[in-house]
Amino acid sequence: MAITRESVGTVIRSYRESRGLTLRSLAEKLDVPFTSLSKMESGDQKVDSTFLVSVADYFDVSIDTMLNRTTNPVENEHHKKENKLDIQATLKHVLDTYQEAKYEMLKDHEIGNYVRNVIKDVLVEDADLDEHRFFVTGSVGQGRWAEIPWVSIFIRDITTTATSGYYIVYLFKADMSGVYISLNQGWTYFLRKYMGKLGREKIQATANIIQRKLNTVPANMTTAEINLEGRGDLAKGYENGHIIGRLYEADNLPSSTELINDLKELLTSYKEIEYMMGGRSVDEFNDYLLLSEDGHYLEEDLEQEEVYQDNVQLALDSTLDETEEAIEADNESLPRPDPVLDRSRRQRWPRDARVAARALRLSKYKCALDESHTSFTSKVTGKRYLEMHHLVPMKYQGEFDVKLDREAQLLALCPTCHRQIHHGTDDEKEIILRKLFYDRRDRLEAIGIEIGFKELRNMYGIKG
Ligand SMILES: [Zn+2]
Ligand SMILES: [Zn+2]
Repeated sequence: MAITRESVGTVIRSYRESRGLTLRSLAEKLDVPFTSLSKMESGDQKVDSTFLVSVADYFDVSIDTMLNRTTNPVENEHHKKENKLDIQATLKHVLDTYQEAKYEMLKDHEIGNYVRNVIKDVLVEDADLDEHRFFVTGSVGQGRWAEIPWVSIFIRDITTTATSGYYIVYLFKADMSGVYISLNQGWTYFLRKYMGKLGREKIQATANIIQRKLNTVPANMTTAEINLEGRGDLAKGYENGHIIGRLYEADNLPSSTELINDLKELLTSYKEIEYMMGGRSVDEFNDYLLLSEDGHYLEEDLEQEEVYQDNVQLALDSTLDETEEAIEADNESLPRPDPVLDRSRRQRWPRDARVAARALRLSKYKCALDESHTSFTSKVTGKRYLEMHHLVPMKYQGEFDVKLDREAQLLALCPTCHRQIHHGTDDEKEIILRKLFYDRRDRLEAIGIEIGFKELRNMYGIKG
């Protein structure tokens, strides 16, 4: 390539653009008016040798190397390696230049391309991200500068948008004093589904549940709250949706090796969420997670059974302002509620701890099989401890058009009777079941739950 005024200008521009620098910011660094730099780049002004040396110094290359490079830095592998950007340099570049860039026009601004593409390329290459599986992108805002510019890594099967679902995101603080790596969630989804304050509660609830469930938390990271120093709704959304992460301070960025290691470790946690989701949509998964926050527990779930029984005891308090007449008058059928989907995409049916708490009150704390059965005293209620059991098992909810999680369905049983109805021999189960069924049959019919004893026996696996 002949060295002409035009070609020198083109080379300077290609170096500048490959670092995502604006004309203004490079001109300032090289101490020339940006109008002169602009003219030099376009070949309208001569580039003197002193200036060329300062350009080469700034980009840390020899003049020889610089003038021999092709105008497209990506086409030239040799020079690409020599000038290879790393993650530390790219994050630093955004932290250093974003405040200034915000005074310029957003449209076609180089920093936009830098955040969307340059950082992405570095992450994809250095963290070995398979782009069929991961989608990496970033943003400095649309129409107006974002308060919090970001770069995200999405598992395509979970989400490809920052507005919904779970993802890893680099979040630049509004004051550019640092950047967080954060396992986070899309806030707009919660905003649309729940609105304002409730949305904030729900996104914090899913963050908390996932924090408790994750087995893998990178050694460098914590679940501590983050502070983006922002004023906008999106900044607050990210703060509330944060699951785990780490702050990198602008004046103390770790090495690129450490940054990439952090990302790889956080990817392990992210993949754990993917596993928990088990192919469910973000909406299906969140509904499932949020059940227990609402005092609902899944039917016949060993993990949840103890929590359910505990919460029935706790919920007793909240039923005390309801009169017994109001509870007993509850004799109309209710429609079947919506199921939630578990990891294997099976339909599951929630149980409400408050419904069982009302039924427990109505039982007068006596075992439904025999009032004389003894038990210990519940620490929470100060009454005889009993466990709540649904006569028609909740797992059959799908076969009924009416709601099964009702007071009439719920039996307060002493722990021995409760274990017996689940784990006894067929004969022992049948003795209990027969009495309970004929005690409750009329009440069940009154709320639309129609079932014969033979059918009920089958549901309990009693043979013959
Ligand atoms: Zn039970
Ligand atoms: Zn009993």
